[in-house]
Amino acid sequence: MNAHRDCDKCTGKAVAWMYGGEIYRITARKDRYGEVHDFICNTCRFEKKNTADWVIEGPREIDRHSVISQNHYDGASTTVR
Ligand SMILES: [Zn+2]
Repeated sequence: MNAHRDCDKCTGKAVAWMYGGEIYRITARKDRYGEVHDFICNTCRFEKKNTADWVIEGPREIDRHSVISQNHYDGASTTVR
């Protein structure tokens, strides 16, 4: 899932790996080439594992819609069609 939070150290944009309604892993977002898009700080990565810490945006679409990863992906929630 794409997720974000307010953070003063990084963009706060990350991927929340969820299982059974709980976050078990937070990683930086990567595009389809495996390049990290938005770096996240250690606080976000390691200390924020509560669903309450994050705003869950929804399932990642970036892998299927290459347009998003080209240029104009600015972190706004993308509409799932
Ligand atoms: Zn952060």
